[in-house]
Amino acid sequence: MNFYVMTLFPEMIQNGLNTSITGRAIAQGKISLKAVDIRDYSTDKYRHVDDYPYGGGAGMVMQPGPIFDCYMDLTKDMGKKPRVIYTTPQGRVFTQDVAQELSKEEDLVFLCGHYEGVDERILEEIVTDNLSIGDYVLTGGELPAMVMIDAISRLVPGVLSNESSAQFESFQDGLLEYPQYTRPEEFHGKKVPQVLLSGHHANIERWRREKSLERTWQRRPELLKDAVLDKKDMAFLKSLSENQKE
Ligand code: SAM
Repeated sequence: MNFYVMTLFPEMIQNGLNTSITGRAIAQGKISLKAVDIRDYSTDKYRHVDDYPYGGGAGMVMQPGPIFDCYMDLTKDMGKKPRVIYTTPQGRVFTQDVAQELSKEEDLVFLCGHYEGVDERILEEIVTDNLSIGDYVLTGGELPAMVMIDAISRLVPGVLSNESSAQFESFQDGLLEYPQYTRPEEFHGKKVPQVLLSGHHANIERWRREKSLERTWQRRPELLKDAVLDKKDMAFLKSLSENQKE
């Protein structure tokens, strides 16, 4: 899978993603990352890429020309039009489901805004998806692009060394993940739950399922309405709410 990022701060993207698990995936060729400096496409001798907003108002707006030239250069050898994601607080909120959907693409292009944003005409021309990482405003689209690339990359086969770790974690089945424990067996007087030491796989699985249900019920109850639940799960959730009433 190939990620391309159009940005004014390519070093931020490279430094952030060439580290840890994504860094290893890039080094092993499981994913590729190219961060392109939009400023290289400025036609201005001072390398300007922004200007005052028509109609007045605070701040500067990124101009359409350098972004278009950058996009054309990036995509000229791709064969087909890629999905182009504009990171924006005005977009659909990025979730694990969106990450799943995007992990099926071969090429993904990100456009990172800065200042007050980007001239609307270039957005209309090249952007296929407007995506936000949450209802707050950041100074630029680089962190959102890194967040999305990280979440998408770990769903690409071979990126995580243990494939099952992406399968059983939070959101993957609509629930939050169960609590995890490692050595030592006792820490500050608290013991690891006995069942996890029992070696009894069916009991461990049931315990984890119930903890996952309980945690989702406590912390993100709204997720339960879309989760896939069987009869045992429903009975367990019912017992939780009955115990609460007592
Ligand atoms: N004036 C814009 C608005 O009100 O929608 C906000 C511009 S913001 C200061 C600069 C850039 O940061 C945006 O163009 C966008 O690329 C990025 N950005 C800020 N917050 C974001 C968020 N929550 N999700 C994704 N991108 C964001």
